[in-house]
Amino acid sequence: MTEGSEFPVKDKKPPDIKKTGDDNYYTKEVDIISGASMKEVPNILWLEEIRKEDIPSVGGKGASLGEMASIGLPVPKAFVVTAQAFRRFLVESGIEKKIFASYEQLDVENNEALEKAASGAKSMVLKAKMPAVLTDEIRKAYKKMSAEDLIVAVRSSATAEDLPDASFAGQQETYLNIKGETALLSAVQMCWASLYGARAIYYRAKQGFDDYTVNIAVVVQQLVHSEKAGVMFTSHPITGEPLTIIEGSWGLGEAVVSGTVSPDKYIFDQRSERVVDVLVSNKKVEIIADGDHGTKIVEVAGARQDTQVLSDAEIKKLAMYGKIAENHYGIPQDVEWSIVGGIIYILQSRPITTIGNRKEAKSMSGEKQSETILLKGQGAAPGIASGRVVIIRDVKDTGSVKEGDILVTRMTNPDMVPAMRKVAAIVTDEGGMTCHAAIVSRELGTPAVVGTKTATHILKTGQMITVDGEMGLIYEGEIHHPAPALAAASGHGGAAPEAIITATSVKVNVSIPEAAVRAAATGADGVGLLRIEHLILGLNKTPGWFITNNKEEDFVRELHDGIKIVLDAFTGKPVWVRTLDAPTDEFRNMMGGENEPHEHNPMLGWRGIRRDLQSPDQFRLQVEAFKRLWKEGYDNLGLMFPMVSHPDQFVTAKAMMKEWGVDVENVTLGIMIEIPSSAIMIEEFIRCGIKFASFGTNDLVQYTLAIDRNNENVADMYQPQHPAVLHLIHNAIQVCREFNVECSICGQAGSDPKMAMWLVEHGISSISANIDAIAKIRQAVARTEKRIILEAARNRDAE
Ligand code: PEP
Ligand code: MG
Repeated sequence: MTEGSEFPVKDKKPPDIKKTGDDNYYTKEVDIISGASMKEVPNILWLEEIRKEDIPSVGGKGASLGEMASIGLPVPKAFVVTAQAFRRFLVESGIEKKIFASYEQLDVENNEALEKAASGAKSMVLKAKMPAVLTDEIRKAYKKMSAEDLIVAVRSSATAEDLPDASFAGQQETYLNIKGETALLSAVQMCWASLYGARAIYYRAKQGFDDYTVNIAVVVQQLVHSEKAGVMFTSHPITGEPLTIIEGSWGLGEAVVSGTVSPDKYIFDQRSERVVDVLVSNKKVEIIADGDHGTKIVEVAGARQDTQVLSDAEIKKLAMYGKIAENHYGIPQDVEWSIVGGIIYILQSRPITTIGNRKEAKSMSGEKQSETILLKGQGAAPGIASGRVVIIRDVKDTGSVKEGDILVTRMTNPDMVPAMRKVAAIVTDEGGMTCHAAIVSRELGTPAVVGTKTATHILKTGQMITVDGEMGLIYEGEIHHPAPALAAASGHGGAAPEAIITATSVKVNVSIPEAAVRAAATGADGVGLLRIEHLILGLNKTPGWFITNNKEEDFVRELHDGIKIVLDAFTGKPVWVRTLDAPTDEFRNMMGGENEPHEHNPMLGWRGIRRDLQSPDQFRLQVEAFKRLWKEGYDNLGLMFPMVSHPDQFVTAKAMMKEWGVDVENVTLGIMIEIPSSAIMIEEFIRCGIKFASFGTNDLVQYTLAIDRNNENVADMYQPQHPAVLHLIHNAIQVCREFNVECSICGQAGSDPKMAMWLVEHGISSISANIDAIAKIRQAVARTEKRIILEAARNRDAE
């Protein structure tokens, strides 16, 4: 196995500095971001010196350019005026305190006051004198780029890690076609000023950001006078298929990005390495440089309007660069490219979002669309949807939810599933990637954003919003965007997905039987986790209710019928059904919920195998449903016990099943590894007869790091790639391999291609992912397996 490719610990965040009141941190000596002495932080950084860890100094855009250059993509030369330089400007020009004081008491809901404060702050920045040390350094860097006055693009680059790059629609100013030192210096200052746009201030106030800590860097980059340019999705943005989708037009890429032209569309199939679809559009206009300053829109002459922009060779080469970027970042990318004199340049690469990065797209009629971001959370289920908000504070109110609404609630519960089926998107205040809302939305194929903290307060019932479930953003109003057209383009005769055979099985997770057909259509090698609690809780009655009301048979039948739907969809493939695992708080709203104990921490409480062993009736009814299915010939049914912490629990469960008439030695019984103790004691479990083990990383991370998986306040510390988690996983895999026991993963981490690559490198036998992630996981697995084989062959040749 390839060793040494452990994930690094997630990049350290800059310290969260709050205003102290003693004015200390406004002084020149201490850098507000890193706490380092200001003298040590450079004002200018060149692309070659920058890595992704430098976001606090160079912003998202600058860091991404540095990263791209470091992997050999052809990026035009650039330097960054760092965030520290901006801070230095504020401090040394003496305007820092004045700016913040000018809108400290501001009520951002008062539009007039907001506009006034914003323009005041902006003009302070524009009028202030840039310190000589900065003007000198910027001038020198500019000269170093080229002896002649080079034409550059000057772009803002937001530095706060939590702020999406495009989040300040008014902030992310870019000035194209800047030539000469004077124009450059004023463009830099204009970028700085744009940090105080009205929408930017509003957004920060709403998000609760401390304005004192928000910074801006400025990227100064050679402007490529593109003859042709556009955007590229490195994989299909919806299905994850290996289809590169390229849009291109004449002139600068702004024409495509802003929606000014209908671009050509090309689809390149990475499997056959062929261009499989070409759609040549009528490109009426192009955007070109306007003399020495700015850009202009001009008409495209005659036949060139209908001429194909890209040759097959260019499409192929672009797709190759796209793949390099995707492989490096581990997820499909949205890339901006440009070509001049036959040379391809890559201008930008970011994770695919069909909505976030194109500021102020204009429709063909020229009418502007608003892209005000109202809220940000975690993108939990991909897709984009617009609709009217309906705020649900109590499950009793779900009757008011209509088809196509956007359900906004504190947190979804299993009893809300009927309403969740109807809506266009789901937004919650609480929760992370593994909460109930996230799991169910993914299976329903409904876009969802979780953990927004304030959605139920900020949004209003009846308000029109757009939800981007990939990026985790909520926009004001209904957003029409050119990007969906790009996605739709892939429908033009793109090749059907070919089955990729992998040695590592790629399975799928299912929680609601109605998702079974969609899950099976992915071609998955089986079901690595069928969560039955969603099935039971959907009945709106606790298992205890069925028992006390003598309705045991109803309970068994519901369970039997639900599981059977999934088994039927996966004939001949293993389906691992997990016994009941619902924390007591999830039962509370159901009939019978009044008898559930109140626990301080239900996550650490009476759930999983512990509860079944102490509630033999509840366990027995589940076993009865399994027994019937085995009897009906479903020998692809395997059972998995959740939350086991000691082999004794497995032994006891097995003994109870035997007593109830199960031929325990001839059915497939396994465990979830969700508690560090079970990872540590895996050998003992194997000696007790488990047939398989599957990492439930959603819980394993929570119990290893002491991070409540549903608590949005600590969500950024929830790290499946934490070395301690990886260490537990690595060791358990090795032991399973030694004893030839199937070792799998069914936690959310298995849906992350980077994690999948790591797991394959470390010898996992199967990976079970979400429905929406199967294609990309299969790809990641196949690629890693090939690389391992290749490396082994090379090593052999070298010997
Ligand atoms: C897990 O813990 O990773 C898991 C798959 O189980 P659940 O998310 O249902 O707790
Ligand atoms: Mg779990």
